[in-house]
Amino acid sequence: MIITEETKLKILCEEVKTIKEGEEIGAQLLKELTESENGIGLAANQIGINKRVCVINVKEPLVLINPRIVERSEEQFMFSEGCLSFPKKYVRTGRHISVTVETDNHEGKMVFTSDSDKVDDAFECACVQHEIDHLDGITMFDRAVVAQPYKAPEKIGRNERVTITDGKETKELKWKKAQPLVESGDWEMATI
Ligand SMILES: [Zn+2]
Repeated sequence: MIITEETKLKILCEEVKTIKEGEEIGAQLLKELTESENGIGLAANQIGINKRVCVINVKEPLVLINPRIVERSEEQFMFSEGCLSFPKKYVRTGRHISVTVETDNHEGKMVFTSDSDKVDDAFECACVQHEIDHLDGITMFDRAVVAQPYKAPEKIGRNERVTITDGKETKELKWKKAQPLVESGDWEMATI
């Protein structure tokens, strides 16, 4: 059973004492994840166990026991994400472009980066940040990026070229083409 009450997901999870305990929780999480609809990650507190274990399954199933983000890029990317605890809700979040994670059950450091051509890399990178957030009682709503409504200054001419960005892609367009995109909130004027 996946917990959907937000208040129950706001609790800071405790470290597990042994790898064995972590692996048992990891196995339950992977089972629950397999039975879910389109789930790619799950944290222990989402099934009512307030311990620091989460799983992600984008390229391969990974159990992370007592995971810690030890390095994070300052730069972020925008990601549209959902959560098994909040069915049919999606939020645009800001996530670090890369994070380095240490756990108790994987040797050395694990690097997750969205800085690649493969969509799976971005999914995995956002997913690991989303799941570790859960263990800290943080949900995707706490990471939501709200695009600032943009008021066009009157001085921009209709045929003047402007640069806009959606956080990933940058376009140069005439203002008459760019204006509806900027007003939709999905694109912003690029700061150069
Ligand atoms: Zn979630």
